[in-house]
Order: sequence, then C-alpha cells, then structure tokens
Amino acid sequence: MLLEELTQTFGVSGYEKGVAELIVKNIQNNVDEIRTDTLGNVITLKKGNGDCKKNIMVVSHMDEIGFSVMKITDEGFLKVKKMGGISAHTSYMNRIRFKNGVGGVIGCSEKIEKIEAADIHKLYVDIGAGFKKDAEALIKVGEPACYVGEYQRLAGNCVTAKALDDRIGCYILIETLRKSAKFYNDVYFVFSVQEEVGLVGATTASSRLNPDIGIAVDITGAFDTPDNRDGSAVLGGGAAIKVVDNLVICDEYLVAEMASCAQSNHIAYQMDVLAGGGTDAGAINKSNYGVKSGGISIPTRYGHSPHAIVNMDDVNACIELLSAFVNREFSC
Ligand SMILES: [Zn+2]
Repeated sequence: MLLEELTQTFGVSGYEKGVAELIVKNIQNNVDEIRTDTLGNVITLKKGNGDCKKNIMVVSHMDEIGFSVMKITDEGFLKVKKMGGISAHTSYMNRIRFKNGVGGVIGCSEKIEKIEAADIHKLYVDIGAGFKKDAEALIKVGEPACYVGEYQRLAGNCVTAKALDDRIGCYILIETLRKSAKFYNDVYFVFSVQEEVGLVGATTASSRLNPDIGIAVDITGAFDTPDNRDGSAVLGGGAAIKVVDNLVICDEYLVAEMASCAQSNHIAYQMDVLAGGGTDAGAINKSNYGVKSGGISIPTRYGHSPHAIVNMDDVNACIELLSAFVNREFSC
C-alpha cells in the first residue's frame, strides 16, 4: 500500500533518496516533465491548457525528523544531534533505526521528568553494544537515524505511523496527479528536501521555478485531544486551509479562493491558524521578490513523534481540494 510504503521508507533530512525513488516510480507516467535537482528535490511539471494559465508550485516535503550520531562513548552508547524539531520527552524510550539498518532504544542520562524537551544532549542511544569497539563495528559518526513507528490503521478511518509529516502530503500530491488527466494551469508538483532543517529544498526550487502562486501541502496541529485544545484545526474536520502560521501570512485572495473552491465542490474544510511552526509556504512566499502563497494542511495529532495520527477522510478532502484548486482560473 502506497501510504504505508511512503511512511516506512527512510528519509531523514538530507537523506531523502529512497523516498525520492519511490515517488518517481509512482508518478513518472502521470507527468509531462520530471527531474531531480542538485539538492535532491523531485520537480515535476503537469502542463496546463488554460487561456489565462498561471505557474503554480505545489510542494510537499520528503524529509522526516531524526538524529545523527555525534559520538560513541567508551561503554558503547551513542550521543546524537537532532535533525529537525525533536523533543527529548517524545523521544525517550522510543526505538530508532539507523539508515544502515541497525536498531536502537533512546535512554536518558537523567530522570526524564527533570530535563527540558530541548535537552537532546542528555539522551543516549542504546544499540545493545557492550563496548565502544562493538558499537564502532556497527555505527560510524554521522550515521543518520529515524524513529520506528509502524503503519497501522486505527478506528474512525484514522492511521498512525512515523513520518506522516510530510509523507501524507507527498501521498496527496501523488493521488492528485493520478486522478487528474487535464490541467488548466501549469502545475509544478515539487517533492522537497530538508524542510525540517530550514525549508532548504523549497527555497532553491522556488527560486528556480519562479511561480505565480505557491501552495504547501503539509501537516498542521489537531487541537482536539484532552491536553491541547488551543488551536483551530481538528481531526475529521476536513481539509485545513492555511491562513497564518509562524512563517507565513497566506495571501488573502488565495485563502478566499480556496474556501470558495471547497464550498462550490462540496468539500469538507476548516480554517487553519497555527500558533507555532511553519511550512514550505514561508519559503516560497519570500522567494523571487515575493510570491502569493497558501497552504492545504492535514490536521495531525502527535505530529513530531513516532506515532502521528491523521484521518483519511481529511486526507481525501485535501486531495479533492488540491485537484479542484490547481484547475481554477486565477485573476491575480
Ligand atoms: Zn512538515
């Protein structure tokens, strides 16, 4: 199953090649052009035939958060650097898997309740090695690792897995490409690298493509669990139309167009105002002296963890909204 394969493929920031290969295999017959750029972004083009067509860049990122080995201790434990927004609390007692296949469990040198979420330097990885030389035989400094979080279907048409941020966005782009034969606008579907460490791939791809409109398809928080109700989006509430986050204020015209597109196509939607975090929309917005930008967000529980949850009804609404939106005639 494609979504399962997407989430279970290794793709920590900077090491997205496996994800890129899987995506190319699944879309090469559905696009007019396809290339992989210097940094590893997969850039595809679906040509439109509209009289007043625009260049639209739609982007989802291929990378996931993870770790990089920094040091091997005399006892054979590993100290790690975080790659992206990793919390020590969320990581503690979870399993990770290195790119070379070696597994490990995350421990902490102090009581976990006593440390801050940012204290990654207090974590260590136990790969079961007894001595430094045993660990060195299996792992080198610089080896990247991702969380272990198997794909599982849950009640209410929900799924859980690692790396749903943002393989669920990649899935939405792939399914949109597969279901739409004709396009009104020229649409670049971009699968970006290194979003989690500073929107790197989207920044370079946008400066190359110089789009008229940029749309990021990425997760947003779901604020509907007992501990966390201070936000707008909820699971099962439909496709979330981004209005503002920490990195972008979406173009007012695009936000209104997106909402009216959802209404006229009877697609379930909600507005997305996110107090923390940001997506590739922020990078596109600031490129090329300014690009009108927006976002389609997937409400997600436990985002930067090994066990995120999304609702497939929301995901299908996002596919419908993206398919309809990129085929609209824009006046901007
Ligand atoms: Zn993301």
